[in-house]
Amino acid sequence: MANEVREIRINPIVPSESVLVATARSMRPKKAEELAPRDTRKFVETCPFCVGNEDKTPPAILALPTGDRWELRIVENLYPVLGDNRSQTNLSFGLQQIIDGYGRHEVIIDHHAHGIALHEMSVEHLALVFGAYRSRMQQLFESNPRLKYVLVFKNFGPAAGASIAHTHSQIIAMPVVPENVQREVDNSSNFFRKNHQCIFCTLIDEALTFEATIYDRESGTVRRKINVGQYVVERGEKFIAVKPFASRFEWEVHILPLRHQSDFLDVAPEDLGDFARVLQRTMARLDAVIGGAQYNYFLHSVPHDPQRGEHAHSYHWHLEICPRTSIPTGFELGSGLFVNTLSPEEAAERLRAAEI
Ligand SMILES: [Zn+2]
Ligand SMILES: [Zn+2]
Ligand SMILES: [Zn+2]
Repeated sequence: MANEVREIRINPIVPSESVLVATARSMRPKKAEELAPRDTRKFVETCPFCVGNEDKTPPAILALPTGDRWELRIVENLYPVLGDNRSQTNLSFGLQQIIDGYGRHEVIIDHHAHGIALHEMSVEHLALVFGAYRSRMQQLFESNPRLKYVLVFKNFGPAAGASIAHTHSQIIAMPVVPENVQREVDNSSNFFRKNHQCIFCTLIDEALTFEATIYDRESGTVRRKINVGQYVVERGEKFIAVKPFASRFEWEVHILPLRHQSDFLDVAPEDLGDFARVLQRTMARLDAVIGGAQYNYFLHSVPHDPQRGEHAHSYHWHLEICPRTSIPTGFELGSGLFVNTLSPEEAAERLRAAEI
């Protein structure tokens, strides 16, 4: 049995965000989120996103390949802005106003097969999906210089905010930078000013260091040994999946490029395959350990604002994957302190050990 952990961890990238890691059962202030009933059907006649029902959505902005045997389609959102996100009504309202100004909200139908899970998609297909995100982001930025941020995200399962069961993700282009991205940008820029290094690169280096020993400053004796490599979940040639030390969610995992890169638009097309492989294996590990969990993922990339050049050295793009396995309580919502009931070290170990 793993040791009980009860400590407050400060997010190194956003220090104002802290997490209470409390693993003792008696301490758990949260209820488990139910597993989403998994719809594994390939085709549903009444589904507007299924093949043959293309006339039930607005015309495709992009279809790959073109024609009626598409693998992926991008369409305008018929019900713009997060009207289906039951837990974040205020956010929906705020975003609605932004989009009404000069934003865009689009839906990416990720795959022709209705109920396919991400880890069941081929690596080639996932590379196609992320390549489509990238070209759409590029086109949106080029279409309107007032757009500062293009948020790409996916909701899977009703608790994660998905109202349509058919696998899909969303793109929201906005004239403002979302606050949580701005906080990461500002803090990583401060870190760069002090340390002349990107904080994300520093954390990756730490994740790849296999042991660190902390000595007592006065007596010189070993105070604590940390096995830092314990945060790595999956590693590719160009990308790494890590379990953040101060994870807000029990099974949260982030994927980052190993070499410094601030803008997702700069990923080389030939590297998308490696990214897709790391993502697919990470999702397979999550599925093997928590089976059918609901999740959100979202891409964080450097905002296209006037400071973009300045942040090119300090910000590092990444994909945050946040499975929803517990329901936030009044304590979390009221205090702003996240509660994680599973130690990130144990979660990473279980993910690594999963047979995929
Ligand atoms: Zn469908
Ligand atoms: Zn970096
Ligand atoms: Zn982020």
